[in-house]
Amino acid sequence: MSSESTASKLIVTVLGSGTSQGVPMIGCRCPVCLSTDPRDSRTRSSIHLATPHAKILVDTTPDLRNQALREGLDHLDAVLFTHPHSDHIMGFDDLRRFCEMRGGPLPIYGSEHTLTQLERIFFYAFNPKKMIPGYVHTVSHIITGTFALGGLEITPLPVPHGSVTTLGFLFSNGGRKLLAYISDCAALPDPIREIVTGVEILIIDGLRERPHPTHLNVAGAVEAALAIGARQSFLTHQTHEKSHVDRTAGLPEGIGVTYDGMKFEFELE
Ligand SMILES: [Zn+2]
Ligand SMILES: [Zn+2]
Ligand SMILES: [Zn+2]
Repeated sequence: MSSESTASKLIVTVLGSGTSQGVPMIGCRCPVCLSTDPRDSRTRSSIHLATPHAKILVDTTPDLRNQALREGLDHLDAVLFTHPHSDHIMGFDDLRRFCEMRGGPLPIYGSEHTLTQLERIFFYAFNPKKMIPGYVHTVSHIITGTFALGGLEITPLPVPHGSVTTLGFLFSNGGRKLLAYISDCAALPDPIREIVTGVEILIIDGLRERPHPTHLNVAGAVEAALAIGARQSFLTHQTHEKSHVDRTAGLPEGIGVTYDGMKFEFELE
């Protein structure tokens, strides 16, 4: 085999780049919601990571089914959860198809609080005495620190988000910090900035231009991104208030915005 065919890669796909209501928003006739630019169609925020060893989903949004169909996802090895807000968990039941295709339970990872909420809302998936064929069936792993999965080291990044703590994730390989994904945060505390400094790609909450009590706005996200100094940074979890083109035009060099279907590729050791 040539060295090319054995090249080991991480491919990251932005499944969704939108805020909790999605864009277009139901009943809205603003120019962004009526836009024909596919990058202005923002499903709820989520990413997918594929290495030769594992396929990992971050969050199960209410748009999961359509995101999976759009990207041709046919296998999952693990699901990581950032926090238990509806826009990040309400596609949970669509994991049933991935359990079926795996022929067994699907490992899920999250904070103790997130997993407790998932077990409360989707109680039928967590009943070991009653496993119904064709239903979703998961195995919970509480995240307490850096863990290994699919050739990646995954470091949790706890960040404040109103009354809950969101887990961002730093994905590294052989000590190289490849990607930090931090959705839904009101601020980026200094210890988290230190952990992600040196990362190649940063994807961070950048909801809208106006301030918001539980999300970074564009100015806050830009400040954090410039302080961290990733090779490239991208704002995500966006509202309908600006189009992809207009929001991008207002950002400093090296900072952009995510869009549904955007992909990043990294060489692995
Ligand atoms: Zn959210
Ligand atoms: Zn709109
Ligand atoms: Zn949230």
